[in-house]
Amino acid sequence: MGNLRFDVVQEAFRKKAVPVEIPAGKPSDYFGSLVFGRSNMRKYLDQDTYQRLVHCIDDGVPLDSEIADKVARGMKEWAMEHGATHVTHWFQPLTEGTAEKHDAFLTPDGNGTVIEKFDGKSLAQQEPDASSFPNGGIRATFEARGYTAWDPTSPVFIQDDTLCIPSVFIAYTGEALDYKTPLKKALKAVSDAAVPLCQLFDPKVKRVYSYLGWEQEYFLVDEDLFAARPDLMLTGRTLMGHSSSKNQQLGDHYFGSIPSRVAAFMKDVEIAGYQLGIPLKTRHNEVAPNQFEMAPVYEEANLSNDHNQMIMNVMTRLARKHGFVVLFHEKPFEGINGSGKHNNWSLGTDTGVQLMAPGKDARGNLQFVTFFVNVLAAVQRHNGLLKASVASAGNSHRLGGHEAPPTIVSAFVGNTMTEVLQKLRELPSGTPFEIAGKKGRKVGVVEIPEIFVDNTDRNRTSPFAFIGNRFEFRAVGSSANCAGALTVLSAAVAEQINEFKAAVDKAMAEGKTLEIAVMDCLKPLIGQILDTVCFEGNGYSEAWKKEAAKRGLDTESSMPRMFCQFTAPESVKLFTDLGVYSEKELEARNEVKWETYSTKVLIEARMAARMAVNHILPAGIEYQHRLLGDLDLLRQNYPHDWHKMAVTQKGLISECSALLADIKTRTDALNAAREAAEAKEDAFAKAIAAEKAAEALRLLRESIDKLEEITDNALWPLPKYRELLFIN
Ligand code: ADP
Ligand code: MG
Repeated sequence: MGNLRFDVVQEAFRKKAVPVEIPAGKPSDYFGSLVFGRSNMRKYLDQDTYQRLVHCIDDGVPLDSEIADKVARGMKEWAMEHGATHVTHWFQPLTEGTAEKHDAFLTPDGNGTVIEKFDGKSLAQQEPDASSFPNGGIRATFEARGYTAWDPTSPVFIQDDTLCIPSVFIAYTGEALDYKTPLKKALKAVSDAAVPLCQLFDPKVKRVYSYLGWEQEYFLVDEDLFAARPDLMLTGRTLMGHSSSKNQQLGDHYFGSIPSRVAAFMKDVEIAGYQLGIPLKTRHNEVAPNQFEMAPVYEEANLSNDHNQMIMNVMTRLARKHGFVVLFHEKPFEGINGSGKHNNWSLGTDTGVQLMAPGKDARGNLQFVTFFVNVLAAVQRHNGLLKASVASAGNSHRLGGHEAPPTIVSAFVGNTMTEVLQKLRELPSGTPFEIAGKKGRKVGVVEIPEIFVDNTDRNRTSPFAFIGNRFEFRAVGSSANCAGALTVLSAAVAEQINEFKAAVDKAMAEGKTLEIAVMDCLKPLIGQILDTVCFEGNGYSEAWKKEAAKRGLDTESSMPRMFCQFTAPESVKLFTDLGVYSEKELEARNEVKWETYSTKVLIEARMAARMAVNHILPAGIEYQHRLLGDLDLLRQNYPHDWHKMAVTQKGLISECSALLADIKTRTDALNAAREAAEAKEDAFAKAIAAEKAAEALRLLRESIDKLEEITDNALWPLPKYRELLFIN
C-alpha cells in the first residue's frame, strides 16, 4: 500500500517561494492608499464637509444626514476610482473574527437602467440579517433585529472590490452585540476619568488617549499537509500527534533567518497592511518551529484593534496564495509553545505626555507614579476579571502551560520600580517629597534613572509586565479580539482613577498641597499592591500558586468558572457605573462565552472520537495484522525456534493491542462525556460538563500518541508533527 502522506509531504517540501508583486515606490508612497484618511477626505470632500467630518471624528459629534450624504458621495467616488463595486459595514461580532455583508453600489434608477449609488443613510447604518450571530439570548428575547452603525473614528478602507466601513453592531433594544461598542465606551471612561486627574498637574489637558501595540503570534502550516489533518481543518489545532524528535529545544528558530516561502508571505502581508494604513514594524521567527510574530507601531487603541482584526483577515487570505494556512489558535501543537497576542498598553494626554513613562521633572514623575500605582491597584482589584477577559477554550491550553503566563494575574514591575515603590511606602505621612527627574537631579528621596526605559528587566513569566513606558498584558490569546481584554482593563483603570481623584480632592480640600495630597493617597495603594499583585518571581512555579492564593489573588483555572467573574457584584458595579455594559449585556455575554467554549470543546470531542475510529484504530489494527502475519510465518518456517525469534513482534503486538484497547475505551469515555455535556440545557452547566470532555480528549490523545510512536511510519495516516512543523 502506497502512503499518501509521503506524497503530500514530498510535494510540500518541494514548494518554492511565490514571487511577490512589489508596488512602485517606497512603502511610505503607498502607505494608506486604500484608506479614506484625512488626505483623501480633503481631496474628495468640499472644505465645509471635510471640517464637519473631522469635528465629528475628533470630538465625537454626531454626523447630520446632509453631511453624511456628501461624505458618502466623496467616499464612493474615491472607492470607485480604486475599483470598488461593493460596500459593507465591517463589524466585530462576538464570534472572534469580523463580519461583512456586501451590497453593490449598483442600483436600478427606475428608468430601466442602473447607476452606482451610495448615500449617507447607507454609510451611517446597515441592517444585516444578524439573527445568527451570537447574542446570548438578547435578541431572541427582546427584539429580532440588530443594526450596524459607522464608527467614524476608524477610517473606511478598501478590501478587494469592497468599501469597508468599520462599524459597531447593536440590537434594536440598544444592547451591544460586538466587541467595538464596549471598547469605545471603556476608552471614553478612561479618558473621562484621567483628564481631571491630569489637570491637577497640567490644566491644559483635555483628552487622554489609550494606546495599543499588539504583537501577533501565529503558526504557518503548508496547506497540503493541513488538508490531510481533519483536526486542523475543523478545529484549528491538532488533537493528536506525537511530539517530534526535535522541536524547540535547540532554540534555533527564535529570531532565526526567515524561510523564503514565509518571507514572501510576510512581504505580501506587509504590502497589503501598508496599503491599509497599518504601520507594521516588526517581523520575526518565534520560539516554536513554524511560529512567527508580527507587530505594528502602537496606535490609538480602537484603531489599533481594528488594524489587528484587518491584518488577521489579510493574513488568512494571503497565506493561501503562498500555499500556507495560518493558524491563530492559541495552542495548535502540544509540547511546543502556543501563540499569544501581547497587548502593549499605555495612556497619553493630548498635550503629548506619556502617562506610563517617567516624566521630565519631579512633577512629571509624580504624575507618572500616580498613574502607575493606580493601574496596578486596578489590576489587583479586578485580577480575576482580567483573567476572565482572556479566558477561552483555545487559551485554556496555553495559559498555565510552561511557556505562557499562569492562570493568575500578577504584575511584574522590575527592580527600579520595586525600589521606588518600597521607598515611597516607607515615607512618613505628610512628607513633602519629590521624585528626581530624568536628568538625575536629586531633589528627593527617590530617583528614577535616565536609562530607565531600556533598562527594565524582562520577566517572561508574568502576565502583566511594566516595560518602562507601557504595560504589557501577555495573557491575551492569539486568536482573541484585543477589545475583550482592553475593555476590562480600561474600565478597571477608569474606576480606580475616579476613586483616587475623589480622595485627592478631599485631601486638598482639607488644605494639603497637591504633592502631599497625592502622596498620602498613593501610600496605602502602594502598600496594597506590593503585598498582593506585584510579583517579581517565577510565575510558572508551583510555589507561586500557593503564595498567590495567600495574597488573595484569583487562582481559578477553569475557564467556564472564570467567566462568572463578569457577573460578580463588584464587576457589575464597575461596568454599570461607567456605562460600559448593562447587567443584561453582561449576562448575555457570559451565555455567549459559555456557549462558545462548549461548542468548541464539543466539536473537538466529536472530531477526536471520529479520528480515533476512522483513522487511528484502522492504522493500529493494520500494523497488528502485519505483526501477526509475521508471527505466523515464523512459526511455520521455524517450528522450533520461532518463540525466541518472535520476541520483538510479540512485544509489539501486546503493546499495540493494549493501546488499541485503551483507545477504544477512551473513545467511548469521550463520547459519553460529550453526550453528557450535549444533554445539558443551561449554558454554564454545559460548559462545566464540556470541561470533562476536554479532559477525556486529553486522555484519549495520550494513548493515540503512544500508538503513533510504535506504529510503522508507512501506515500512519496523518501528517506527523515533524512534517507539519518543519516544512515551510
Ligand atoms: P518586545 O516586547 O518584543 O520587545 P517591541 O519593543 O517591538 O516588542 O514592542 C512591542 C509593541 O509595543 C509594539 O507594537 C510597540 O509599538 C508597542 N509600544 C511601544 N511603546 C508603547 C507605548 N507607550 N504604548 C503602547 N504600546 C507601545
Ligand atoms: Mg513585547
